[in-house]
Amino acid sequence: MYLNVAEIESAITALHDSFPDASKVITPPHPTHEGRTTRLLRVGTRQTDEVPGILLLGGIHAREWIPPDALISLAADLLEAHDLATGLGYGASTFTAAQVAQVVENLNLFFFPCVNPDGRAFSQTTSAMWRKNRRPAPAGSTRPSCVGVDLNRNFDFLWDHTSKFAPDADVHTSSAPCHAQVYRGPAAASEPETRNVVWALDTHPRIQWLADVHSAVPVILHNWGSDQNQSTTPTDNFRNIDLDAVRGRPDDGIGEFIPERDLEIAVGLAERMNDAVRGVRGVDYGVEAAYGLYPTSGTIDDYAYSRHLIDPAATKVFAYTIECGDKFQPAFSEAEQVMREVSAALLALALNAPETAF
Ligand SMILES: [Zn+2]
Repeated sequence: MYLNVAEIESAITALHDSFPDASKVITPPHPTHEGRTTRLLRVGTRQTDEVPGILLLGGIHAREWIPPDALISLAADLLEAHDLATGLGYGASTFTAAQVAQVVENLNLFFFPCVNPDGRAFSQTTSAMWRKNRRPAPAGSTRPSCVGVDLNRNFDFLWDHTSKFAPDADVHTSSAPCHAQVYRGPAAASEPETRNVVWALDTHPRIQWLADVHSAVPVILHNWGSDQNQSTTPTDNFRNIDLDAVRGRPDDGIGEFIPERDLEIAVGLAERMNDAVRGVRGVDYGVEAAYGLYPTSGTIDDYAYSRHLIDPAATKVFAYTIECGDKFQPAFSEAEQVMREVSAALLALALNAPETAF
């Protein structure tokens, strides 16, 4: 059975109670619209300022039921294996006891399994295909679809798509509050759930990698999502207002700048994750730049990687969207297989990422 919101929270508490020396519960400051408090479980024996960190997000989209369960499952596997000094195996993707120790003792993994608990509760009890959070509808709007914001359109990165993208760019976001799927919200980072993720990054400057787990394409996406990547023209970037009228078009010779070395790192880590996914039962998620699906605005992956470009004091964060499995809510026996794929991928990220630390 998929975990409900209360079970996710009690799992976080139980894991910390069982493994107090290798974990810490972190409570972000902003309660949700329905008054829920969500928490992170940090897995690692070292203090947050001592070692690099990876932020792992799940449940941003309510109907994607697998990611929160996958993150809880991996946290439990890691803590238990570390405690027993054993390895972990997901099909042919195996990790030795030494590798488990390396992850738990030389990194901090910040598990944030259920970023959007209001949405998940609504999806699991009332409307299975619900995607957004549960921001109350604007005054006078009574349609059910007028509730909620797509949190993965609400981050402060090219958020105002109407002024930042070409009119004919196929950006999948909307300024209409009653859009049932991709309403971007009344302002960038307007939502408490969005601000909790921002807070996690602000508060833990040693976080250098981020994986936001979604379903169900499947694919592993790396930066950028706003436009096609290019490594030749640094001035063609998200801060260049001269590009506002043309941003997001395919194959027009204008793209988002990413330094060659960063692109190499981003793709290399994604390939290691995909190798680990394949080892579980042979499924090939594939690796693409996020733009490969469609141009995106206000997403967490581009926001996270853009932070160091806006604020030179901010840490560079390589960010991924892992679209796992091929159904939002498959039978749980299938969900368990997808969870193993996610676990293998994230362990591969944790083992290979430190080589790219700075
Ligand atoms: Zn999603």
